[in-house]
Amino acid sequence: MLIDADRLHIAIQKNGRLADISRELLKDAGLRLQNGRNALTARVENFAADIMFVRDDDIPTFVADGVCEFGIVGGNVLEEFRLSSGEPDIEVVAPLGVARCSLKLAAPETVDWSGPAMLEGQRIATSYPKIVDGWLAGQGIRASVVKMNGAVELAPRLKIAPFICDLVSTGATLEANGLRAVADVFDSEAVLIRTTRPVPAQRQALGESLLSRIDGVLTTKDAKYILLNAPSEALPAITRILPGADAPTIIPLHGRPGHFAVHAVARESVFWETLEKLKEAGASAILVLPIEKMMP
Ligand code: ATP
Ligand code: ZN
Repeated sequence: MLIDADRLHIAIQKNGRLADISRELLKDAGLRLQNGRNALTARVENFAADIMFVRDDDIPTFVADGVCEFGIVGGNVLEEFRLSSGEPDIEVVAPLGVARCSLKLAAPETVDWSGPAMLEGQRIATSYPKIVDGWLAGQGIRASVVKMNGAVELAPRLKIAPFICDLVSTGATLEANGLRAVADVFDSEAVLIRTTRPVPAQRQALGESLLSRIDGVLTTKDAKYILLNAPSEALPAITRILPGADAPTIIPLHGRPGHFAVHAVARESVFWETLEKLKEAGASAILVLPIEKMMP
């Protein structure tokens, strides 16, 4: 495909756990993709950007080489790439709070786990050999790491290695294979990355505009607009309780001297407990509204 000099290039996973999350984020940022599921690239209709659909393992390479200015990838894949290629030209723009999982060391349920010292001289199968090597070094343990590209959880049964280190979210796959997690090696979530290679001026400006939209999407995700009424003496307590709120707007209520309406943007989730505290502090007629878009 031809690299278009005045368009941004964004690498996302073609199929897999990050595919929908990535499309969703771009959609929330207002980008409308043209092509369907099977294309390798898609043109964005309403923004000067092209999307490249690739294997997640290739995303750091694309971004480090500057072929794509941006990419969305799991922190685990990025870390493995970092450890394998020195100091790649990649910067993490923002953690995305999704695709949370952790790389865990697991042992057969029959093994009486007594701690990492048990790994000395053993074999460990994993798709993330550099991360595991680093972790072992940190524990002062020498073990041999066997790289497998998939089906790592079969390694103990196939006698490839007695231990494995694999991504886990619920542990169900481990359990189904007679294994259990015994140590946390690396916690991961999806991250937005950008190249630190020089980018031509017109694309630089596009990148800033995309980032400001994504920033808006990420800050709006948990943000809520809160409205409530309160007597003046309750205002100090109420403004203290409002979660992550910037300076609230306080407006006198017509016909009710000493009473005010408080409007505030809360940047964190608003829980029932918070509403109860607000009520106790003297608030009434509390409304919590979703925020659709936000730009600082
Ligand atoms: P590809 O074909 O693109 O190479 P893959 O099989 O390597 O795909 P996926 O299984 O789709 O990758 O996982 C992509 C990323 O999603 C992982 O690198 C990790 O960051 C995250 N992930 C993996 N397993 C889980 C899980 N159980 N729960 C949540 N996120 C996960
Ligand atoms: Zn992969």
